[in-house]
Amino acid sequence: MVKYPRTTWKHRLYIPEIIRGLMLTLKFLFRKKSTLQYPEQKHTLPVGYRGVPRLITGNDGNERCVACKLCEVVCPPVAIYIEAEEAPDQNYKERRPKVFQIDYGRCINCGFCEEACPVEAIEMSQSIEIVGESREALVYQKEQLLAVPADPRKPQLRGL
Ligand code: SF4
Ligand code: SF4
Repeated sequence: MVKYPRTTWKHRLYIPEIIRGLMLTLKFLFRKKSTLQYPEQKHTLPVGYRGVPRLITGNDGNERCVACKLCEVVCPPVAIYIEAEEAPDQNYKERRPKVFQIDYGRCINCGFCEEACPVEAIEMSQSIEIVGESREALVYQKEQLLAVPADPRKPQLRGL
């Protein structure tokens, strides 16, 4: 059986507890503030933080992706959709994505797509401010995925 402490008149007075609470507030009042005035002030995310995935551009200005669809296969919530087509310049790649969509509404930022990609064409960015007024607005197309900014602190990949 659980024994509860008896409530005395001191407990019922509440004043000592209120004073204890105020003392605690006072203790933290002059400490370094950790509240940021968002969105004017931004939090510096640690290197390696997984925001949303982004597509990487090669030296030719186009996507590095060769439309192998490995990322589509490994994506746990089935957030990636790819349609492939023949690449016009067959010198360094045979295929490229005609359609490349990532549904950020489904993405769980797991980073599996980055791990699976054999040509380092997709990576996790530091972008976390992805908003939309509908589910459809969260489905990003290839051009939008290529425009997601890279983390300047991450070593940039050699373009194909
Ligand atoms: S980060 Fe994970 S959930 Fe998001 S697109 Fe890549 S594999 Fe899918
Ligand atoms: S991003 Fe990488 S893994 Fe995904 S289809 Fe393109 S080349 Fe393949």
